Amino acid sequence: MSATPETDAVRVNLCLSELRLPDAKLAWTALAARADKEGWPAARLLAALGEQELAERNRRRFERHLDEARLPPGKTLDAFDFTAVPTLSKAQLHALAAGDAWIEKGANLLCFGPPGGGKSHLAAALGRALIEKGWRVLFAKTTDLVQKLQIARRDLALESAIAKLDKYHLLILDDFAYAAKNQAETSVLFELIGARYERRSVLVTANQPFAEWGKIFPDPAMTLAAIDRLVHHSTILEMNVESYRRKHAIDKARAVSRPPTRETINAPS
Ligand code: ADP
Ligand code: MG
Repeated sequence: MSATPETDAVRVNLCLSELRLPDAKLAWTALAARADKEGWPAARLLAALGEQELAERNRRRFERHLDEARLPPGKTLDAFDFTAVPTLSKAQLHALAAGDAWIEKGANLLCFGPPGGGKSHLAAALGRALIEKGWRVLFAKTTDLVQKLQIARRDLALESAIAKLDKYHLLILDDFAYAAKNQAETSVLFELIGARYERRSVLVTANQPFAEWGKIFPDPAMTLAAIDRLVHHSTILEMNVESYRRKHAIDKARAVSRPPTRETINAPS
């Protein structure tokens, strides 16, 4: 059979399917038509086709990683009001969002402050930014993860459960120092910290400072060892601010109950 434009098209489609290049397969006819019309050199067409496949592949990977990260929705760095937390530097947070300086080394990030101060928001926002940069992240409520690890231990599969978390460059442990932990819960949590030490990063958010962890966790020696590992290569963000929610609610209530000002009285209706 002699080659015709039709048989060429069939061959291209077959090859792109076999090579598992679905986006190039979708894009090539339009690109080839443009190349013919504008007289592109062959290399330009091949480059455009390759770039199309790569861009779509990266987009799909980002969607997949975002999905698996279980981030609370809508929490981005852009939506974070830095003026509400004067102890934080926006520039520092944007540098952390690039990840290269700390995620590569398996260093940690520790966020402390009272409830409502924006710790979970910031953790999720950093997680999202890091996924955009190609890192893999998992956001977990510490209580939930501890329950899962305890079930794994019961099934004699704790080691492999912890090893499976290695695929995440960053593990966000939200509300790390939650109350009422027993020895069994603490030990799986601290085993996880030990396993990731100097290899994979952890981002911890906690309402209580280290000084109070001795009261929350049952075993002082184990607690000290875990704190030691967490802080060894770490950045600490202190977010000692009033609850953002409460502050907003109060500001809103004040605005509603404020007596009319001269401007509002004189304003044309
Ligand atoms: P924490 O984890 O410290 O208890 P959250 O991150 O859950 O606090 O914050 C409580 C709510 O207030 C969330 O809806 C969050 O998006 C919002 N919030 C807190 N701080 C800020 C901030 N600085 N800018 C924008 N929204 C904020
Ligand atoms: Mg929180």
